[in-house]
Amino acid sequence: MMMIPSFAAGRWIAPDSGARAIASAITGDVIAQAGNDALDTGAMHAYAREVGGPKLRALTFHDRARMLKALAQHLSAHKQKLYDLSFETGATQSDHAFDIDGGIGTMFVFAAKGRREMPDAQIYLDGELEQLGRTGTFQGQHVCVPLQGVGIHINAYNFPVWGMLEKFAPTFLAGVPSIVKPATATCYVTHLCVQLMLDSGILPEGALQLVSGGIGDLLLHTDAQDVVSFTGSAKTALKLRSTPHLLENAVRFVAEQDSLNASVLGPDALPDTPEFDLFIKEAHREMTTKAGQKCTAIRRIMAPEGQVQAVIEALSARLAKTTIGDPRDPATRMGALVSTGQRDDVLEKAALLGSEAERVFGDPDDFTVHGADREKGAFLPPMLFHCANPDSAERLHDTEAFGPVSTIMPYRDADHAIALLNRGKGSLVASVITRDGDLARQMVMGAAAWHGRLYFNNADSMAEATGHGAPMPHMVHGGPGRAGGGEELGGVRGVMHYMQRTAVQGSPDILTAIGGQWVAGAREHTGGPHPFTRTYHELQLGETLYTESRKVTLQDIETFAHFTGDTFYGHMDEDAAKANPFFPGRVAHGYLLLSFAAGLFVHPDPGPVLANTGLSNLNFMKPVSPDDEIKVRLTVKKKTPRTAEYGQVRWHVTVTNQNNEVVAEYELLTMNAYAAA
Ligand code: NAP
Repeated sequence: MMMIPSFAAGRWIAPDSGARAIASAITGDVIAQAGNDALDTGAMHAYAREVGGPKLRALTFHDRARMLKALAQHLSAHKQKLYDLSFETGATQSDHAFDIDGGIGTMFVFAAKGRREMPDAQIYLDGELEQLGRTGTFQGQHVCVPLQGVGIHINAYNFPVWGMLEKFAPTFLAGVPSIVKPATATCYVTHLCVQLMLDSGILPEGALQLVSGGIGDLLLHTDAQDVVSFTGSAKTALKLRSTPHLLENAVRFVAEQDSLNASVLGPDALPDTPEFDLFIKEAHREMTTKAGQKCTAIRRIMAPEGQVQAVIEALSARLAKTTIGDPRDPATRMGALVSTGQRDDVLEKAALLGSEAERVFGDPDDFTVHGADREKGAFLPPMLFHCANPDSAERLHDTEAFGPVSTIMPYRDADHAIALLNRGKGSLVASVITRDGDLARQMVMGAAAWHGRLYFNNADSMAEATGHGAPMPHMVHGGPGRAGGGEELGGVRGVMHYMQRTAVQGSPDILTAIGGQWVAGAREHTGGPHPFTRTYHELQLGETLYTESRKVTLQDIETFAHFTGDTFYGHMDEDAAKANPFFPGRVAHGYLLLSFAAGLFVHPDPGPVLANTGLSNLNFMKPVSPDDEIKVRLTVKKKTPRTAEYGQVRWHVTVTNQNNEVVAEYELLTMNAYAAA
């Protein structure tokens, strides 16, 4: 018997009064207990806020991203332990790829995005500067800072590892401590994962706590700095989100709940095409992975009227090959549901579907289970229903049988398919298997508003496609209406759920000090050594070089044109150039100006500048005519560490003419060594 403790305010608390019994999905025997009514949730909340929060906020995004990566590596090294335990939930080895490997992979993605897309700072700048005054002495910038509360993560039973990590990674990256409450039925797997994370010694104190069993009155300690992030059934979501304390205190509540996801076979995907096979493969995978206990699983299969029979036959043939049994056996293709209670719930929902549709594959009273007792374990066969008249059906579009159950239905044309898709009243994902771009566009216009993700797949993309049912950490996961109205993941977007966006207004100097990047109009530092002779660490924001002037002659333009082959008429033909609305006559090439600018500002000797790696936000603002004189201002705008030896410097560059008019503006990127060679 496993006694699953909670981790509260720095201590492991064993189960005690109020503990719940947890049964094996395979044998039905009680294997664990979790829960303790005496858990001091007020102390947990205070500990997260007073110990975890300050420690996390003292770090930068990059510090936390590095820790996430180290945690992901640590979990990778120990994942066999998670696999071994997770079989007990009914999951097969290939199911582990979604839950355990998927969870660790999500952490790796957030670690990489934190380093690449967020600053090595404590404040995140959201969007561009907004010039609010006429001359730029008063500007605005949106910033995001970590909330000063706690992320309370309440998760569903089906993904005990991924469910926790996909919420923990963005919360941690934001700089907010987490209290994780997994579903009791599979909390022993989450507990092992939390224990591995805590034992790694990587996490700052107070960053992660665990509630095994009931959550007690934890939600009653929350306020507007906290986020309750829930995944589970619509029923529980409704109950929790309408808790008066949450409403009175404007506590953020993010919900991911059940949904009636669908997949559409495009009219072009006829039975002899690779797309038809792909459709069958995806539908089969969604029905059988995790025994259909996936929030994104395909519950409604839609095929053109003329293809319904072919789909039933092909899908049934594939389902017939699905070996059901002990998930530890490598020959098993589908394991058990999480509990016999869940099995009974699925049978009840299947009976509801049966009132509107005919079961065409799978008999719950007649199927074979290998290596386990069919009656004691929570086993079910995959069940395919056929509804010939989906327009008049109701249950079909609102009943989620959270198991290996799906219903096929016909559609007449694209508008009909869209209408059926949207009858689910909001889903996490809908897929369309087609090569037809016009159909895809029509689907987006008609259905995207009702679905969190639209997944198009065909022979061109199928080798790399990630699957209808796999939420990717880079893309948002969530959906409107029935799906909960929430959104998670989506790269840095997911981090923002745990941060406060604040509009900051002030002078360029004030905004430079806050944002850690130089704002045009802020103080410049001039007169020192050439900035290209200064190491990454020596350079300061606002450090500026003003160059000498250089005349651009007609001969320069001629030479550049013939040397590069760019003999565009605007540079070569006076009359043709004059006839062009942009040019007063022949003008210098923009690329000539950039080259001359580099010639004006570089320092030739070997030094800390290692390479010019790019140029961004380039604008040519005014043409340069023969005999105009140009000069350059080069200012250190932003510094970002990259490796142990060097970092990136973003320089703001303006090229002006003899009348001090800006002719070109851009940002130059260089890699600069931390130390002098
Ligand atoms: P559930 O019964 O709604 O439970 C979800 C979580 O809420 C569990 O941790 C549960 O804890 C907790 N909970 C239940 N009542 C509570 C209360 N009064 N106060 C505080 N916490 C409470 O859902 P489930 O059966 O675990 O999961 C299956 C459902 O989740 C399906 O409908 C599925 O579609 C949905 N799901 C959605 C997503 C998504 O991303 N949208 C992902 C996975 C699953 P206990 O277990 O301790 O009761």
